[in-house]
Amino acid sequence: MRKVGVLALQGAVSEHIKSLQRLGTEAIAIKSISDLNSVNGLIIPGGESTSISRLIQEVNLYDPIKEFAHRFPVFGTCAGMILCASSITDNAERLKPLALMDIAVTRNGFGRQIDSFEVNLDINHVGQSIPTVFIRAPYVVSAGADVEILAQFDNKIVMVEQGNMLACAFHPELTNNTQVLNYFLAKIK
Ligand code: GLN
Repeated sequence: MRKVGVLALQGAVSEHIKSLQRLGTEAIAIKSISDLNSVNGLIIPGGESTSISRLIQEVNLYDPIKEFAHRFPVFGTCAGMILCASSITDNAERLKPLALMDIAVTRNGFGRQIDSFEVNLDINHVGQSIPTVFIRAPYVVSAGADVEILAQFDNKIVMVEQGNMLACAFHPELTNNTQVLNYFLAKIK
């Protein structure tokens, strides 16, 4: 049985839980190690990566999430993608990413003028012309050899996969299209 957790320290938590439930997937908010121990997939939502990073350490979830990712699929969206990275090129706040994927990201990578936008993307393995919403989005600056690039926009890498790990720069929970979420759910055995 699939039971997916959404890291619920800060950010777009309820939107993810609602989209999971719309697909008939059991979903809970994750605030503690015992919550984490009850699920077999995890979504790290969008929000403010500095706050999420600080709270992960405050509630002692840093190592537990890293261990979880060795055993179960994890999906980072927007700020969640920043947290999955092994390095952040503009890390002025010295936030501590979880280093779950061999990617370097830059925050607010699309510039302040185009803060948020919607675009239809072709995503490898997922589908063509998928509606996506970007909000002060990061992008992937470089990816290791084990990382598959699933989508690019404006010559920037915006979705990647590495084994059980998936990350995207946009917010799949803010559209009614469920193909991206379904692609993640298929990873959960
Ligand atoms: N720019 C935000 C950050 O750096 C991410 C924005 C988002 O998750 N929508 O954390």
